[in-house]
Amino acid sequence: MILSFTDLLVVIVLLAFVWVLVDWTFSFLAERRNQRRLRLSARECHLCGKRYPEKNRVKLSTCPKCSAQNIRGGHRKLG
Ligand SMILES: [Zn+2]
Repeated sequence: MILSFTDLLVVIVLLAFVWVLVDWTFSFLAERRNQRRLRLSARECHLCGKRYPEKNRVKLSTCPKCSAQNIRGGHRKLG
């Protein structure tokens, strides 16, 4: 069986489509994993709302933007 030029074009387009889908899926999964990691290690400043990375087991961290002190585990005492 000999492929015609049109068949070849269709195959190329299909391959490109599949490639885009696979690429999109991988980037989507990577982004989701990144976001989860960021959410686990990031702290949102209670004063200015800036998100910044934070080391684990740090009870008190300082916001790089406004120098506010952020306490780990929410702001139950602050209300
Ligand atoms: Zn801040």
